Amino acid sequence: MEGRKQYVSKKKEHQIIIDDQNHCCLCGSKLVFKHKIDYLSFDVREDADCPSCGIRLKTRNHRLQ
Ligand SMILES: [Zn+2]
Repeated sequence: MEGRKQYVSKKKEHQIIIDDQNHCCLCGSKLVFKHKIDYLSFDVREDADCPSCGIRLKTRNHRLQ
């Protein structure tokens, strides 16, 4: 008994979602990262802006040792 599974190839849209944090999840444009360093508290804020959408996607805080 042969139980081969056939993959039905769905035609997806020509959009590949890459697990890449450097690209906008909406339009796929490359994000522009900005780092702001607060020298008083030694915090580094990382902002990622999409130049196409104009949205801010990520705000991370790093703390310098
Ligand atoms: Zn975008």
